[in-house]
Amino acid sequence: MEITIGKVAPEKMKARPADESSLGFGKIFTDHFFTMKYHSEKGWHDAAIGPYKNLSLDPAVMCLHYGQEIFEGMKAYRGKNDSIYLFRPEDNLKRMNVSAERLCMPDVDIDFVMEALKKLVMIEKDWIPHGSGTSLYIRPTMIATEPALGVHPSSEYLFYIIVGPVGAYYPQGFAPTRIYVSDEYVRSVRGGVGYCKAAGNYAASLYASKLACEMGYTQVLWLDALERKYIEEVGTSNIFFVICDDLITPPLTGSILSGITRDSVIKIAASWGINVLERQLSISEIIEASADGRLKEVFATGTAAVISPVGHIYYKGREHTINSGETGPLAERLYNEILQIQYGEKDDPFGWRMKIS
Ligand SMILES: *Cc1c(COP(=O)(O)O)cnc(C)c1O
Repeated sequence: MEITIGKVAPEKMKARPADESSLGFGKIFTDHFFTMKYHSEKGWHDAAIGPYKNLSLDPAVMCLHYGQEIFEGMKAYRGKNDSIYLFRPEDNLKRMNVSAERLCMPDVDIDFVMEALKKLVMIEKDWIPHGSGTSLYIRPTMIATEPALGVHPSSEYLFYIIVGPVGAYYPQGFAPTRIYVSDEYVRSVRGGVGYCKAAGNYAASLYASKLACEMGYTQVLWLDALERKYIEEVGTSNIFFVICDDLITPPLTGSILSGITRDSVIKIAASWGINVLERQLSISEIIEASADGRLKEVFATGTAAVISPVGHIYYKGREHTINSGETGPLAERLYNEILQIQYGEKDDPFGWRMKIS
C-alpha cells in the first residue's frame, strides 16, 4: 500500500510553541496526521499523511456507542546532533494488535505502520522539542466507524496517528506522588480487558480517581477485583516495590497492562544483578513491610513519566510514608539509565533504541 502525502502549505502551518518549559502534556498537536481506513471486504486502504483536521463521523459510528476503541502511547526523542530516536516502537504496535484481537478489531501490519510512523515523525521533526526530558508524544488510535446500532464488531475502522510535543515530566526534579488505595472501586478483572489499552478502561477509572483527588491524592492504586487484596497497578502505570533487596512487581495475569517501561525496568534491574520478582503482593504485605522498615522504595513506571516515585500511600484511613517521602536511589538510577538510552546518550545493550534520523 502506498502512503499518500499531502502537506500543509507553509503559510497555513501552526505557530510552534516558543516556550519549551510550558509544553505540558497532550494539549498541542502538530500540522499533520496519519490515517488509514479498514473495511471488512477491502482490508486496510487509503493510507495517507495529511493536514491535522477534525474527523467527520456519522453520529451512529459504533465507537461512540459501544466503545470499540484502542490506542497506544510512545515517544520520539531528540538526541545529540539532532538525531531522532524511537524507543521499542514495535512493542507498542504489537501490543496494539493484542488489544485489537481482544476487542474484535482488525490487526495492523507492523512493518507498514512503522514506515508510516517514521514518515510522520520526520515530516514533523521540527516539532520535536530540544529540552532535556522533552519529546514528541505519539498516539496511534483505532476506532470503529461502521454507522450502525446493535452490539457486534464493526465492519469499518479508522486507524490514525497524531503527534504533539510534550514537556519534561520533572522540570524541577522528582516529585514523589501520593497514592490512594481504592478498596471499593476496581479498574478491571481477570478475563476482562484490563491488559488492553482500550478506551473504556480509562472511563471506568475516573470515578475512583476523582475520589482520590478529593482526598488529596494524585493517583489510585488498584487492587484485584476479586478479593480486593492484591496490588495491580497505579493510575495508568505499572508499579514496583523494593522490599529488602528485592525488586517486586505484580505478574501479568490479564487484568493489568503489560507496560513496556515495566519490561525495560525488569530487564535493566536484572542486568544490574538485582533480584527481580514478578509475583503477587498483597496490600497487607506492603503495609507490614512499611511498618517494620523493609519497604525501601515504591515507584510507578510508564512512558509518560518513565519512573514516578511514590512518597505516600493511603489505605483504610491511614497514610504510610515511604522512604521519608523522598525519591529512592533505585528509582533515580533506573530513571537516569532509561532516559540516557532513549536520548542516545549511552550504549543500548538491549537493542531498544531505533534511530530514525
Ligand atoms: C500505558 C499504560 C501503562 C504503561 O505502559 P508503558 O508501555 O510503560 O507506557 C500501564 N498501565 C496502564 C493501565 C496503561 O494504560
